[in-house]
Amino acid sequence: MSDNPRVSRKPVIAGNWKMHGTAAEARRLAAGLRQRLAGKRGDREIVVAPPYTALGAVADELSGTPIEIGAQNVHWEARGAFTGEISAAMLLEIGCRWVIVGHSERRQLFGETDENVKRRARAAIAAGLAPIVCVGETLAERDANRTLEVVERQLRGALLDLGAADIRSLCIAYEPVWAIGTGRTATPEQAEEVHAEIRRVVADLVGDETSDRLRILYGGSVKPDNIDSLMKEPDIDGALVGGASLEVESFARIVEFRS
Ligand code: PEP
Repeated sequence: MSDNPRVSRKPVIAGNWKMHGTAAEARRLAAGLRQRLAGKRGDREIVVAPPYTALGAVADELSGTPIEIGAQNVHWEARGAFTGEISAAMLLEIGCRWVIVGHSERRQLFGETDENVKRRARAAIAAGLAPIVCVGETLAERDANRTLEVVERQLRGALLDLGAADIRSLCIAYEPVWAIGTGRTATPEQAEEVHAEIRRVVADLVGDETSDRLRILYGGSVKPDNIDSLMKEPDIDGALVGGASLEVESFARIVEFRS
């Protein structure tokens, strides 16, 4: 657990829209958020990550608002014969400032490895994007008492070769796979235990100063009715929200968490 006050880590609430919404539908959701969250205090960062095809429309809709745009993945090469992939420069051009890498759905359904996650995170940082690097154990791994070991392996794999300055531009999202889209949230105590461990591993890699400044988000069935208790934990600095980010009121209430 960090001794540093939360005030040194500005909370981040990020919505992962996954493969939901045509450009027109995403624009409508973005317009709802723009109206609902207009004039929000600048004491928290708000990010939405729509599908690639909706990035332009959402960036246009949210231009000039406090809501920033993220993508759901990025390739490590700048260009080339990589069918279906998107480069960091393409994301920057369309208005992204953030990108999610290593989401468990990418790892589980599309064969994403720790090595790939590292390459994506490095390329994103080099281009000036802020990666949200996801880690988290499966239910079988938790039941086998391997949570901390798995998270540490994923973390070291993703952050290998990154220096303190690089790590300052990213966030980690701890997302237990068994909590994603299941309605089964980690308790604040379960999440805090892993967040504190993530901070310890990062301190071991690049020192306490960087580790104390690192924002660690929790993800996994975050809803309006559990965000406040999660955000009371000292090492939980925000949330990566899937299902509940697809509806204006629920996402807005999560953004408006009280800790
Ligand atoms: C996610 O996909 O990153 C996620 C946390 O989803 P949900 O909030 O729906 O569990």
